Amino acid sequence: MNKLFAIALLGLSCTPLWAADCAATIEGNDAMQFNLKTIEVPATCKTFAVTLKHTGTLAKNVMGHNWVLASAADEAAVNADGLKAGLENNYLKVGDTRVIAHTRIVGGGESDTTTIPLGKLKAGESYAFFCSYPGHAALMKGTLTVAKK
Ligand code: ZN
Repeated sequence: MNKLFAIALLGLSCTPLWAADCAATIEGNDAMQFNLKTIEVPATCKTFAVTLKHTGTLAKNVMGHNWVLASAADEAAVNADGLKAGLENNYLKVGDTRVIAHTRIVGGGESDTTTIPLGKLKAGESYAFFCSYPGHAALMKGTLTVAKK
């Protein structure tokens, strides 16, 4: 009985740790910068959630940010098509299959969360994340990597 109880406790204490590992929060500010350049997804994760927090005060039509994930090879084309799509479409082409995951465009004080479908990612590969607001990807970009099992 004591042994079973100990195992049960161990199981409980592990749960929040796993959950914390499978999520990341990234901040965007009024100076057109993300606070992270790299995000690593642990191999044990089944899903991975990314929350974008706009820590500035400027409105989304002036200094809006989103968090977009695509393969590094698709980044430029996703951005070019997103520019034409406009703010009402979060500066992303509607139904763009090259976009693996994305948040909506947020303004100062707002946040949004997206869940990455890890089945679409390959372990050991690097992917590009960026903000598709016009002109922002030059500064607001980084690399997401899925750890090898
Ligand atoms: Zn931005």
